[in-house]
Amino acid sequence: MMEAFRATVLTLMPDMFPGALGLSLAGDALQRGLWSLAVKDIRDHGIGRHRAVDDTPAGGGPGMVIRADVLAAAIDAAVPTEDTRPRFLLSPRGRVFDQALARGLAGGPGAVLVCGRFEGVDERVIAGRGLQELSIGDYVLSGGEIAAQVVLDAVIRLLPGVMGGDGSDLEESHEQGLLEYPHYTRPRSWEGGDIPAILTSGNHAAIARWRQEQAEAITRIRRPDLWAKYRR
Ligand code: SAH
Repeated sequence: MMEAFRATVLTLMPDMFPGALGLSLAGDALQRGLWSLAVKDIRDHGIGRHRAVDDTPAGGGPGMVIRADVLAAAIDAAVPTEDTRPRFLLSPRGRVFDQALARGLAGGPGAVLVCGRFEGVDERVIAGRGLQELSIGDYVLSGGEIAAQVVLDAVIRLLPGVMGGDGSDLEESHEQGLLEYPHYTRPRSWEGGDIPAILTSGNHAAIARWRQEQAEAITRIRRPDLWAKYRR
């Protein structure tokens, strides 16, 4: 059997974990041993009696920066050099996380996720410890912890055994490069709106065709960027 996916998170806010990952689908999977989570407090490697982890930015400016030596010591203690898992720094400057990367990670041994705080981390530690910068979108969070949970949530639901194995994960938005078709359930008639007749027709080929058309139309209208890629 393949080793379960191993996540290691480095953070200044360890109490934020497992957070949302301790509940529902991800939490059940954690309890079932389908993935594991190690949370490391960067402050354990802080300097002096006050365990200082940050300092003022060289060159001036607002805020504080996490020290390279402190963060490197935390990484070195948490991750052995021979560890082959990809290492990420959550960062609004990074490659934007997407479903393809989630799939890729789900097929691998795990991931090391470093959560920034304050203004960010000393630039030297990024290359010095082989961190790939990873963003969850074009906005700025106050810390990498929620971003790390977003990344892990997307990966965990793809791990073998986590979902029903009914293929529902393959039909989701983004899996085929399209946004998903609309869903309906009972009641058949609600506030003057009826479920589209085709969905109750029992004609599975026609339903599949209708869903494909809907997915294409929604993608074309809402996300011309995805539509252009899909058509290529
Ligand atoms: N000064 C930085 C922002 C720091 S925000 C800049 O302008 O680029 C503090 C921390 O929150 C970051 O170090 C990062 O770990 C996390 N963070 C903020 N926005 C994020 C995003 N969109 N994706 C992933 N992590 C993010």
